[in-house]
Amino acid sequence: MSKDWYPVINYEKCTGCLKCYDFCPHNVFGVEDKKVIVVNPDNCVDFCKGCAKGACDFEAITFFGDEED
Ligand code: SF4
Ligand code: SF4
Repeated sequence: MSKDWYPVINYEKCTGCLKCYDFCPHNVFGVEDKKVIVVNPDNCVDFCKGCAKGACDFEAITFFGDEED
């Protein structure tokens, strides 16, 4: 089964604040070289958007599968 909803980080906007990493309770994000990366896209809850709305202050997170994008 291929996942059709997961976060995508725009590194041109991302400041590396790590708030999304701290926010998500499903271990979707990981940190590598002080940069947040999506390590477990399968863990992302469909249509959650919690990290984009509640954590990221820089509009750096969008979602694969989001028709608004
Ligand atoms: S949308 Fe929700 S489940 Fe998915 S990465 Fe963000 S906070 Fe985690
Ligand atoms: S919360 Fe936004 S700016 Fe901060 S690390 Fe995550 S994607 Fe980057």
